[in-house]
Amino acid sequence: MTSLLSPRPVAVNFHLWPKCNLRCTFCYAGFANARRVLAPEDAERLVRELAAAGTDKITFVGGEPTLHPHLGQLTRVAADLGMTTCIVTNGARLVAVLDAAPGAVHWVGLSVDSGNEQTQAALGRGTGDHVSNSIQIATEIRRRGIRLKLNTVVRDWKTISRSLSHQDGAASRTFGPRAGDPRSKQTGRRND
Ligand code: SF4
Repeated sequence: MTSLLSPRPVAVNFHLWPKCNLRCTFCYAGFANARRVLAPEDAERLVRELAAAGTDKITFVGGEPTLHPHLGQLTRVAADLGMTTCIVTNGARLVAVLDAAPGAVHWVGLSVDSGNEQTQAALGRGTGDHVSNSIQIATEIRRRGIRLKLNTVVRDWKTISRSLSHQDGAASRTFGPRAGDPRSKQTGRRND
C-alpha cells in the first residue's frame, strides 16, 4: 500500500514498443539502445505494479504502440485496475487494438501535424494519405465514445509563439522544449 506521503508515479508514459511503421523526419524515438521489449507477462506485471503503486493514468507510447501484439490486453488490465488509459498513436493498428479490448481505452492521442497531405508526406508521416486516414480513425474513435486529442509537432514554434502572443484568449502561450528535454537539442528522432 502506498503512503500518501511517499512519491508515487501519478501519470506514466510506458514506451513499450520501439519500432514504428513510419519514418517521421523529426522523430527521436529510435530507441537504438533498446535490445528487446518486455515479454508480455513482464509488461503486464509492470502495469499491475504501477497500479499498486497508485498510478492514476498510464499512456502507452512507442515507437508505434499499436504494433505491440498484446496492447489490447495491457489496456484491459490497466482499466480493470482503475487507471485512466491512453494510447498515443499514428493510427496504424488502433482499431484492432480497440476491438481487442472494448471499453478499455479512455483517451487516444492521434498524431497529425498538418491538414495537408503533401506536408504530412514531406514530414515522413505517411505517404500521402495520413490526413484522410486520420479523419476516418478520428471518426471511429468518437463513435466509440473515446476521448480524442491531437498530437501535433510544431516545427516553427518561435513564429507561432510570436503570432499567438498577439492574440487574446489563447489557451496557452508556452511553446518550445522544456529545459532538459532531449528534444531541445534536436539531434535525434522524435516521438509523439
Ligand atoms: S514520430 Fe511517431 S509516428 Fe513518426 S516515426 Fe516517430 S514514433 Fe513513428
